[in-house]
Amino acid sequence: MQTPSSPRSRSSRRRRRRPPLRALLTAAICALAALVILRSPAVIPASAGPDSSRPAASGSSSAQGSAGPASPSGLTPLPAADVHSGALVLVNADYPYVPPQSQTLVTVLDGKNDAYLVRDGSVLLDEEALDALNRLMADFAAQGGERNVNVVAGFRTEELQQHLFDQSAAANGLDHARRYVAQPGHSEHQTGYALDFSLYDVSSGVSADFTGAGEQQWIADHAPDYGFVLRYGADKETVTGIAAESWHYRYVGVPHAHIMTDRGLCLEEYWDLLRAHPYDGEHLRTAVGGTTYEIWYCPAAALYVPETGDYALSGDNVGGFAVTVPAP
Ligand SMILES: [Zn+2]
Repeated sequence: MQTPSSPRSRSSRRRRRRPPLRALLTAAICALAALVILRSPAVIPASAGPDSSRPAASGSSSAQGSAGPASPSGLTPLPAADVHSGALVLVNADYPYVPPQSQTLVTVLDGKNDAYLVRDGSVLLDEEALDALNRLMADFAAQGGERNVNVVAGFRTEELQQHLFDQSAAANGLDHARRYVAQPGHSEHQTGYALDFSLYDVSSGVSADFTGAGEQQWIADHAPDYGFVLRYGADKETVTGIAAESWHYRYVGVPHAHIMTDRGLCLEEYWDLLRAHPYDGEHLRTAVGGTTYEIWYCPAAALYVPETGDYALSGDNVGGFAVTVPAP
């Protein structure tokens, strides 16, 4: 890449030797080129190898700082990360599940507290999601909630999703199955970050739907404080492609759950918002529980994270990342 000063010096040399009109035109083009170069952030071109042309951290943060008002200093490029891992991965009809490079799934029955129930030992969740669920349900019970909320589904393999889809199609028809059951390979249950609640009365053995109303309203209202969102809202069916499910919650992390809830965004819409806040632009900010979080989007080819290492990263399952930084 040319340095910003070179087009200017070339244009001034030319101005002295060429006829006035052409010199003016040349100078205007060069000035415009210089302006574009000056305003461009220091981004590693996608064609360059991840480590081949790493810009100086100070250079990149300087360009970044001038473009974005809420930029942390000391950003550094991250050579490689997995866009298929993280609590914000988007799995829907358009973006199939791709197994992440690493993830810790835990058996809910082994890791849960006694504030809620789980169907059986086959229900698995991502470790971070289970930890958040334990805190959500412990606080629900502590404020008087019944301990009858039953986690009936968590992580699903593609084979299980296929079985559920076929079962629904056989019982209710293909249209119904497509509306209520994600296609195999396209269910976010496969991510380990989604769960289905039900209600189960231990003494009578009777199950009931988790409606999010009545006593369950507390869980619906407070879920974002623990990083969960109601994934398939009634008003988002045209965006998510899935009919309203009052029982299906998705772990996305506390700051993201808060922004999504405050702005009324489903996960598809939230990624649109994130992509509108690149690292060299204005960042998203939200304050939750005394911590302010600063969030920006990076394409995988130019991923920038704080040099301090104090950040959380999630891929979008498409080609980019959300970088989340607890700001001082
Ligand atoms: Zn579900």
